[in-house]
Amino acid sequence: MDYAGKKSDTPSPFTPVQKIEGPVPERHKIELFIKRDDHIHPAISGNKWRKLKYNLLAAKEQEHHTLLTFGGAYSNHIAAVAAAGKEWQFKTIGIIRGEEHLPLNPTLEQARQNGMQFKYIDRNMYREKESPEMLEQLKRLYGRFYLLPEGGTNSLALKGCAEMIEEIEPSSYDFVCAPCGTGGTLAGLTAGLNRRKQLLGFPALKGGSFLKEEIDRLTEEYNGQIYHNFQLITGYHFGGYAKWTPDLLNFIRIFKDTTGIPLDPIYTGKMFYGLYDLMEKGWFKPGSRILAIHTGGLQGIEGFNEKFGDLI
Ligand SMILES: *Cc1c(COP(=O)(O)O)cnc(C)c1O
Repeated sequence: MDYAGKKSDTPSPFTPVQKIEGPVPERHKIELFIKRDDHIHPAISGNKWRKLKYNLLAAKEQEHHTLLTFGGAYSNHIAAVAAAGKEWQFKTIGIIRGEEHLPLNPTLEQARQNGMQFKYIDRNMYREKESPEMLEQLKRLYGRFYLLPEGGTNSLALKGCAEMIEEIEPSSYDFVCAPCGTGGTLAGLTAGLNRRKQLLGFPALKGGSFLKEEIDRLTEEYNGQIYHNFQLITGYHFGGYAKWTPDLLNFIRIFKDTTGIPLDPIYTGKMFYGLYDLMEKGWFKPGSRILAIHTGGLQGIEGFNEKFGDLI
């Protein structure tokens, strides 16, 4: 069904934009703003809400009762799908990479409380998770379901992310910035910007330049377009996905102390670290106006602290 062409009757949430003051932007004569998508919903945070919106509308319209998706044990997407399922009255099934660990970590415990049912599969099987054989097997196990891909990225997710641009005035900014995992959010933003302004994506994974092709593929599938006004800043992955250094955590602590804004260590912390580093290196011209999107992910902090010992 072509839900992608349909105008929404669900209004945009219009999350607030605030200015970030501080010595670094001040010294480099940069105006830095943050769009607080972390405030979009208490449990379905940031870009995961954006990515789910049209998928859930489509699932309802197709009279599905079950959502099935995939993710790691600390996944923001898993957390979001479980919470959304509870709110929108879907049964939810999470196919989790790796073995079960009890007690459940805070992400999975919350998802369980929101009614999600888990199935754990090993890493080799996980790689084949969207193969026709595996999906057939899952259908036999769980019956008919609406499939949300890992990370929630598909065309309907791009449509939801593109809406973020409708909530801002692009001509007010020189750069719009977002962290990247699968690239779905950046792809939606670039489609929403529609060649206005420059987008900067900060991959949370090592070797993030592969995302260029992936984003092109996603926008082409979404609206037949390929955009050139985005750039991937690949130097701030801190060793790879979910890897970190004391320096990164220190930055996150200072950022929170000075601005009052919490960042997560997987995505938004790395993006802001990168932005501040680029400002210090003179990468942005004086007078630049930058909008960074807080994509959420704060649910992961509790599990991160439990695993590594109250670091942030
Ligand atoms: C999932 C996630 C991202 C990555 O989004 P993609 O669309 O997969 O690139 C960025 N920030 C946060 C907080 C996330 O949870």
